[in-house]
Amino acid sequence: METTPAPMRALATEAVHAGRDDLARQGLHAPPIDLSTTYPSYDSRGEAARIDAFATTGADPEGPPVYGRLGNPTVARFETALARLEGTESAVAFASGMAALSAVLLVRSSLGLRHVVAVRPLYGCSDHLLTAGLLGSEVTWTDPAGIADALRPDTGLVMVESPANPTLAEVDLRAVAHACGSVPLLADNTFATPVLQRPVEQGARLVLHSATKYLGGHGDVMAGVVACDEEFAGRLRQVRFATGGVLHPLAGYLLLRGLSTLPVRVRAASANAAELARRLAADPRVARVHYPRIGGAMIAFEVHGDPHEVIAGVRLITPAVSLGSVDTLIQHPASISHRIVNEGDRRNAGVSDSLLRMSVGLEDVEDLWTDLNNALAVTPPRGAGLHLNAAPPRGATSHHVPAVASAP
Ligand SMILES: *Cc1c(COP(=O)(O)O)cnc(C)c1O
Repeated sequence: METTPAPMRALATEAVHAGRDDLARQGLHAPPIDLSTTYPSYDSRGEAARIDAFATTGADPEGPPVYGRLGNPTVARFETALARLEGTESAVAFASGMAALSAVLLVRSSLGLRHVVAVRPLYGCSDHLLTAGLLGSEVTWTDPAGIADALRPDTGLVMVESPANPTLAEVDLRAVAHACGSVPLLADNTFATPVLQRPVEQGARLVLHSATKYLGGHGDVMAGVVACDEEFAGRLRQVRFATGGVLHPLAGYLLLRGLSTLPVRVRAASANAAELARRLAADPRVARVHYPRIGGAMIAFEVHGDPHEVIAGVRLITPAVSLGSVDTLIQHPASISHRIVNEGDRRNAGVSDSLLRMSVGLEDVEDLWTDLNNALAVTPPRGAGLHLNAAPPRGATSHHVPAVASAP
């Protein structure tokens, strides 16, 4: 797509220009949406050569793709832009975050490397995919300090989330990457986004996003993406071609549009979240607040009363799973996002029954606080002394918010 690599530009500049550098020369401003499923060619010898090249390296075919499952020009713009933001050579987009994770697991297990080492908590369905071994993988759960000892000759992947869904526990990515040795480290960067953290700079080889969340940013696109080196990207494209979890071009367009406001959205929502975290931490109805050291727009908090009543009590805030939208969302992880995780494993990972997870949006912070304050007011205590302060996972830092939380 981009013929001349642009010089190093700041994140805010990349957000609005990456993946679009050719547009002005074409006399365009908004990127075109290419909905073609197939690409006519009178040169079938040339097509054969292009398919052979793709089968060997997985590199994006030069010129138009042969067929939509091999690649799409609009989706490629989003991939180019996300790679620039994450500081990687390449990125490969999929139909959802789970399709992206599945492709990573398939790339590794196709090499006979079926074993995965992972740190809890992870997003509930990622935990489920690994635990159930749905793709033939076998998982060893450990804390960050145990990673080096958990590695085996057939370990193909180490997986962490930081900040983690839903507790916002953070891991030291640099230390974890060191412990991985030559095994690729996959960091799920959905919560932090490249605005707050670029895991590749700390030694991760693979960066996963549920693009459904902050990258899209408006709750209307489902997508996933892996940012990585070109060698791994080639393998991912080959798996995507063979298994079919492609992203629709319209979704690619919406994601590229979402990226252009990502830095502004993440900073504004994070400032709201830091203020709400500060107020929640000072509130006697709240037992505990988790807010990451690196900041961000996600808050997790445990209430003394019934968390279901808080969900039932919000009026402005949207009671819904998912996150990263322009509006504020709240959900109860033990009931929804992490329901599929075995109860004991869930609790051990710090996901207590009193935990609520809130994705803070762009509303006025006073309106948000009014709504939250009202919702908390209607929560009857579940019983005196019932205090579910689960310990954070060992080796993971969990920032128990003191009276002051700094706005990033
Ligand atoms: C939502 C989410 C996923 C899964 O992404 P989908 O787009 O829903 O498939 C993976 N990781 C994290 C951290 C998530 O929040």
